[in-house]
Amino acid sequence: MSAREFEEDGIQVGAVDPSKALPDAEEQIAELVKDHREHVFIQFFAQRHAAAALIPFQMGRGVHFWDLRGKKYLDFASQLFNLQLGHQHAGVVEAVRAQASEACYIRPTSNTYKVRSALAKRLAAAAPGDLNRVLFTAAGTDAVEYAVKLAKMATGRDKVCSFYRSYHGSSFGAKSFGGDPKNGGGGANLPNVYKVHNPYSYRCPFGYPEGNVDVYVKHVIDTIEYEGPHLTACFLAEPISGYAGLVIILPQGFYQRVAEYCRAKGILFIADEVMTGFGRTGKMFAIEHWGVVPDLITCAKGITNGAVPLGAVIASERLAAHFDDNVLFAGLTYSGHPLAMAAALAVLDAFENERILERCAASGLLLAERLQQIKRSHPKVVGDVRSSGLLGVIELVTDVDTREPVSDAIMAAIDKHMAEHGLYTFYRWSMIGICPPLVISAHDLNVGLDIIEAAINHHFPQ
Ligand code: PMP
Repeated sequence: MSAREFEEDGIQVGAVDPSKALPDAEEQIAELVKDHREHVFIQFFAQRHAAAALIPFQMGRGVHFWDLRGKKYLDFASQLFNLQLGHQHAGVVEAVRAQASEACYIRPTSNTYKVRSALAKRLAAAAPGDLNRVLFTAAGTDAVEYAVKLAKMATGRDKVCSFYRSYHGSSFGAKSFGGDPKNGGGGANLPNVYKVHNPYSYRCPFGYPEGNVDVYVKHVIDTIEYEGPHLTACFLAEPISGYAGLVIILPQGFYQRVAEYCRAKGILFIADEVMTGFGRTGKMFAIEHWGVVPDLITCAKGITNGAVPLGAVIASERLAAHFDDNVLFAGLTYSGHPLAMAAALAVLDAFENERILERCAASGLLLAERLQQIKRSHPKVVGDVRSSGLLGVIELVTDVDTREPVSDAIMAAIDKHMAEHGLYTFYRWSMIGICPPLVISAHDLNVGLDIIEAAINHHFPQ
């Protein structure tokens, strides 16, 4: 089947289009699942039954993809929160193809090469303030690890302060910084990492029904004061908590005051924008919502629209100056990989040419309105809705007064219902996540939200 036949087709999400089904789909799927089961590790799952639940992916276009049976899905997770421009963006695909025919790989040290310098310059222009120097990594995890390493090298301090409800990667360093309970295993975490509570207004760790920004700021500052500001290299935070918190949006004033405190104490502020960066929240970087310029930004995921793995640490001039006369102990074979550079340049072109930020901000308003409407029409089960740009969440409860989360079993059933109806999304705890490509139309956004609403209605008839 040619790629052209997979262009947008007007067929309903969740329906099977026999013209897109492979004639021998069932045999192919059986073989794929068997090979996967026997040879591929499935991340974050006990292996025994996990392969059976995999979607036999065939082809993606825009905000949709199809499985080998010809079933059409609406991608409300942008795969893994990284396909900001949707599946198979033509400009990105072409840029990678063209770069591959010129130079697939060039050693990062002892060479300079046009796409590498060009991308670093454009990232510097896209980042806030004086964040002008870029260390390219292979993905988000190592971007975070290197950002922390840079902070430790530049300050000569060893401690790291981060949020409990955070995910920064699953390698030894990154899992130590994150607090995601799913991210255990592998023995002890790195020493000298301490955590603070997220300002999670709906489930306030200090018992305030609607949150309290003064208390949240005090909690962070008090904790750092006890741990020793002079020993603390950095405060590491996802500006809006992603996978491990599901869209905890911090109150205005929080980052401004924490960043001011950190600056006064020589503690570097690292904004981990792996999930929130590249327009996800309607700004290039989510920290811009607070008007704060961090010392370091980490990004990955949407930077190449998922076409080629890439991460980046973008550092302030002040921090970068430290390494003018001190060795930068960092090195990756694939730092500044040409194919990734070319993909990222094409992504930045698309952001400009296709007005991605404006579109995301506009769709974000629609999402926010629709989430409020869903909350109003399900007063007994929708406890809270939150969103920023096209990152949103619906938090379900069995009792709106006690805010008791709905059970895992019901969440799994809701998830199954959504998948059966062709909605590809994700849930954590009692929260349904919403993270579609930023190019989604109002129509498709409503289609996805209708499926979510129907799944909630099915399990909690009003
Ligand atoms: N930081 C954040 C905020 C993330 O969401 C993730 C991935 N979900 C990472 C870091 C790790 O990135 P990667 O999986 O690309 O290594």
